[in-house]
Amino acid sequence: MSAVQLPSTERRKEIEANLADIGGAVQRSSRASSTHPPRLVAVSKYKPASDILAAYNCGQRHFGENYVQELCEKAAELPSDISWHFIGRLQSNKCKALAAIPNLWAVETIDSEAKARKLNDAWGGAGHSRGLNVFIQVNTSDEESKGGVEQHDVEAVARAIVEECKGLRLLGLMTIGSIEGSQQRPNPDFLRLRQLRDDLNAKLGLSLELSMGMSDDFEHALELGATNVRVGSRIFGSRATNATQ
Ligand SMILES: *Cc1c(COP(=O)(O)O)cnc(C)c1O
Repeated sequence: MSAVQLPSTERRKEIEANLADIGGAVQRSSRASSTHPPRLVAVSKYKPASDILAAYNCGQRHFGENYVQELCEKAAELPSDISWHFIGRLQSNKCKALAAIPNLWAVETIDSEAKARKLNDAWGGAGHSRGLNVFIQVNTSDEESKGGVEQHDVEAVARAIVEECKGLRLLGLMTIGSIEGSQQRPNPDFLRLRQLRDDLNAKLGLSLELSMGMSDDFEHALELGATNVRVGSRIFGSRATNATQ
């Protein structure tokens, strides 16, 4: 943990101002939402550990990463009370490495029943004393290229997690959404995710969350009921590679 370089004063101030801005917008929307106050996940992929430490020193605790290797390295050198979210494409052969992270808080990208089981086994094998929060990633735009569970399969995956994966705690549904959808108001991907969530809650007697909204549309997502927003570039600046997976 001592190895992390401190951010420059200039960088620290920049991140502090961005976080105050985004955090303020999330807080303001929380007055309107009732059941869950929204959670801001600071997406730090490709950003150095010193940037994360700067945000951490402003009180930010939830961070999101897309790559298992990068997450493992950062988790090892950053404070242990960070709550890490894995938000990248989940590969079966990486479940074990992910599950070994002591302060992994959530995996937001469960995209099949098989991977839920795999992660459940890995989490059990790693000997944690608490459950691992998971979101089912949903392909809300029905585009073949998009990741996530098809809408008509979501209920089956949810049932498998709730009934058979005792190490996992189904926290909610997540979508990345399509580019076209993100240009519409209301965003049809967000509406679909919310409808699916409402249906599942009614059918299974759950109280699921909604992970939706990124830098360009988190405010809109909050208006539509997001409880978990994933914001990267508006906090840490643009990335060298603009991958969203
Ligand atoms: C990179 C990423 C984000 C953050 O994107 P920004 O536009 O930088 O806010 C959110 N969610 C996922 C799944 C991502 O891969």
